[in-house]
Amino acid sequence: MFKINDNYLKLPGSYLFSTIGKKVAAFTQDNPDKEIIRLGIGDVTQPLAPAIIQALHSAVDEMAQAETFHGYAPDLGYEFLRDTIAKNDYQSRGCQIAADEIFVSDGAKCDSANIQEIFSQDSKIAVCDPVYPVYVDSNVMAGRTGTYDPKTETWSDVIYMPCTADNDFVPAFPKETPDLIYLCYPNNPTGSTLTKSQLQEWVDYANKNGAVIIYDAAYEAYISQEDVPHTIYECEGARTCAIELRSFSKNAGFTGTRLGFTVLPKDLKCGDVSLHALWARRHGTKYNGAPYIVQKAGEAVYSEAGKAQLKEQVAYYMRNASVILEGLKEAGYQVSGGVDAPYIWMQTPKGMDSWSFFDYLLEKANVVGTPGSGFGPSGEGCFRLTAFGSYENTLAAMERIKRL
Ligand SMILES: *Cc1c(COP(=O)(O)O)cnc(C)c1O
Repeated sequence: MFKINDNYLKLPGSYLFSTIGKKVAAFTQDNPDKEIIRLGIGDVTQPLAPAIIQALHSAVDEMAQAETFHGYAPDLGYEFLRDTIAKNDYQSRGCQIAADEIFVSDGAKCDSANIQEIFSQDSKIAVCDPVYPVYVDSNVMAGRTGTYDPKTETWSDVIYMPCTADNDFVPAFPKETPDLIYLCYPNNPTGSTLTKSQLQEWVDYANKNGAVIIYDAAYEAYISQEDVPHTIYECEGARTCAIELRSFSKNAGFTGTRLGFTVLPKDLKCGDVSLHALWARRHGTKYNGAPYIVQKAGEAVYSEAGKAQLKEQVAYYMRNASVILEGLKEAGYQVSGGVDAPYIWMQTPKGMDSWSFFDYLLEKANVVGTPGSGFGPSGEGCFRLTAFGSYENTLAAMERIKRL
């Protein structure tokens, strides 16, 4: 008789975005005349840039000829892409990351969910709270998180590191020493960042305690401040303790096209065993590779035209971010984020929890955002708005909120 992996059953049922979807659908049904503005989207909305479309077209044409046809991609990804990434994202910033330390994938969600596989079952994980839910959920499925307490919405074996306005969204070193530390900067959902010296302290902490940092830099392209590092490898000693996850989704619009990569330096070892070798083994065995066509599109992201076009897209979203940031401030809310990330994080008014504020905004302003409590217990009393809407809608939403 077969048995299921009952760790899957431990995951709390209702997923944040399905609850939001149901609430919005019910509201629309009752109020068909109301025009809803969605500022809850965690997905890009601008089309792929012309340089990328051009690369896709010509790669498709290559697939039509026997001489230029491509079958299975190499395990780590095509060298043309890994070389380009190593030069542009790392070597140009003075970081010694080589092309063969880059593993091309179909996105950072998969990588952030799968990376835990190469670590021992009894690894203790630490996460920023609130944060992107994939890190905890994937460890739940792996049976690493203990029991769930619905009252506190926490797992018994997860170390939560609160990141709130009280500590300026900078996590403190936990009392209990973790084995795996998930850091996400610029942060989803709070839009907060760490300075280079703050991140350096975490790298030193990990090296001293024999921990590994899994650093999710999916929003790297949105960084505008000088002292915010673009990669963890800007920090001294990161090659022996850090894995970095990157994505083409939020900087280049690949959420539906799918492309990302993991950086795993060869100096990251457990005794004699190189984690690089384990991840390479996993890639070779359990992964089919991102399509050639998509990897060619990824290469175009780094072309001169591609860089210029994508800079414009990021600027478009960040103009929305500043509209939201200024609008909410004017309306009297306590806000943060929105400077190095497409996310604006706000404190809900006194007496309103995250979900009450969601209902309030939906009913009174017909604006949809995301309740902060959906990203972890410390997100309660907070709310996330995103810059991925259109400029016109973003302006209109702020006018409505200011009138409340
Ligand atoms: C959107 C997002 C990702 C997902 O990236 P994909 O490459 O589209 O899978 C990863 N991490 C964070 C924090 C994100 O917000």
